[in-house]
Order: sequence, then C-alpha cells, then structure tokens
Amino acid sequence: PELQNQIAAGEVVERPSSVLKELVENSLDAGATRIRIQIRDGGQSSIKVSDNGFGIPEEQLELAVTRHATSKLENLQDLQDIKSFGFRGEALPSIASVSRFRIASARQDGDGGVLEVLHGRIVRQDKTAMPQGTEIEVSDLFSNVPARLKFLKKPGTETRKCAELVARIALANPHVDFEFLNAERSVHRFLAGQEVAQRLAAIWPREVVESMHAVSHEDEPLSIHGLVGDPAMAQARPDRILIYVNGRPVQDKTILSAIREAYRGRILGKEYPQAVIFLCIPPEEVDVNVHPAKTEVRFQDDGSIFRIVRRAVLLTLERNSH
Ligand code: ADP
Ligand code: MG
Repeated sequence: PELQNQIAAGEVVERPSSVLKELVENSLDAGATRIRIQIRDGGQSSIKVSDNGFGIPEEQLELAVTRHATSKLENLQDLQDIKSFGFRGEALPSIASVSRFRIASARQDGDGGVLEVLHGRIVRQDKTAMPQGTEIEVSDLFSNVPARLKFLKKPGTETRKCAELVARIALANPHVDFEFLNAERSVHRFLAGQEVAQRLAAIWPREVVESMHAVSHEDEPLSIHGLVGDPAMAQARPDRILIYVNGRPVQDKTILSAIREAYRGRILGKEYPQAVIFLCIPPEEVDVNVHPAKTEVRFQDDGSIFRIVRRAVLLTLERNSH
C-alpha cells in the first residue's frame, strides 16, 4: 500500500499548492467557518491548515490517513484502474506518504486525538486537548521523493501559487474567514461576510475591480453570476479570468472561450478581459472527476454551456456599454 500511496501522491500532489488545495477543501467540506493557513519556505518545510469544522472522531483518525481499499497493487493494470477511479478518499493517505504528517482533530472542545505519520507509517497516536476542529501539518514535503523535490520552484514562486490558490478559494466562499500567513507574516486576510468584489480587491488593482460589472443570469437549470471587466480595462495578461463550477475553482476551455467570444469586437485580439464567473449546474450534467486534482470538468452539453455563458456576459456588456 505504500507504493500505491506514493503513486497516487504523484498524481494528486504535485506541489505545495496542490496539498493546500486538498486540505482547504477538506476544511470546507467539514463546514468550517474559519480557516487558518500557514506555510514556510513556499510550503516545502511546512504547510499548516487549521479549521473550526466538525472534526474527526478519534477512532476514525487512522482511517482518514490510510487507504480504504483492501486490494493490493499487484501489476500495472491495477495501476491504470486506480487512475481511472479518481482520487476520492486518497488525498490524505497520498500526502502522508510523501511527508511528515500530523493531524489533530476534535469533535468537541477539549476532546481530541492526534496522529503522526512519517512517510506513510504511523509513528504516534494519542489523545489531545484542543478546540473543536481539525489541524493538519504537512512538513518536509517530498523528503522521501527527491525526484519530485527537484520540480519545485523557488520558495517565492511556490508561496505565490499558494497565495493565489487561497484567494481563488476564498472568492467562492465569502461566508468563511480565511487567514493566510507566510512564515508568521499575514499575506491575506479575508473576513467572513465580505462581498466577492471586496475579496477581489485584495488580489487585483482597485481600479480594475471598481470598473467591473455584475453578471446575473438564470437559464433553468443553469445559473451564472459573477463580475466581468469593462472592455476599456482589458489588458495583455490572460490570468485574470477566474472560473468556478458549483463553487469549485476550475480550468475550463468552454467557459473561457465563451467569455472571450462575448468581448469580441470590444477589445483588441491581443487583450484579455477580467472575469470572475460562477456557474451553477445540476451535478448530473457535469463530470468533476476528469482530473485527479479535480481542476478540470467535463460538461454533458458543451455547446449549450458555451452559448449560455456567452449570452450572460454579452447581456452584461450591452447593458453597461456607453
Ligand atoms: P475525501 O475528502 O475525498 O473524502 P481525503 O483523503 O481528502 O478524502 O480525506 C479523508 C477523510 O478525512 C475525509 O473523508 C474526512 O472524513 C476526513 N477529513 C479530512 N480533513 C478533514 C477536516 N479538515 N475536517 C473534518 N474531517 C476531515
Ligand atoms: Mg478531500
């Protein structure tokens, strides 16, 4: 099972920000309203995420960090099968197999358990007194996989990727308080109850955010909302288009090209608009398991998604054109 975990880790855990993504999504899944994130050395030395979610019962801690499947990996065909299975329930075991891993959790105040794992082997299990919630620390990421260590960028670059990820997730969860610290210094603080535009102002220039127009469009059973940049603010940088499907940040070519198509004729060919688009779609019409780390989705009906998104953005631009 160790080999299995490390192989899965290669798929789901590419770099510190991918670890962070899994941990923060787990905190959100646990209903947390406050999530505190602290990294060191771009996340390679340490990534710590603590939340006030519903916690894990002490007797289930071990289950959370061990692979549920009983079947052993025997040959390459099995490996293929695992890949096609997606990575549900595999994030923590994968991360714990390539790091020094500590999880502490309490279902209720004062009454928790703690588990420490070194490169996939449990080295300590104990009781601990802590407030309700979960705290996970991932230290010395990839210390047993030197080949992966080599692929990490400079700490500053990895830190930036982590900061961007936190901001992206924070935009989609305005009711949650997020704090992101790099070596004790606060990088982002998103207070609960802030509007999307307020959170956006933490990462984009104020004049860009202030020029944006609200998108709000229903086309049963789909709904689209968000903010799109004024054509006059278009820029040469392509990285200010953020797309969410059912509250999760994704990379999606269909939605991306629909947005760009809506701006056609309003901005120059080499320019890009800014956009934050939240698409809500019935779960049965979208497959979120295309990519192990779940950043890509596949729509049942690509064509209609394209048309509806383009229309939603177009209507907003027309309404606001002067
Ligand atoms: P998945 O999220 O796909 O179920 P993970 O490996 O990410 O798999 O997590 C394993 C399990 O550990 C989760 O199903 C959940 O029960 C528990 N868990 C992980 N993180 C948290 C957390 N922050 N709060 C509560 N439970 C958690
Ligand atoms: Mg998870």
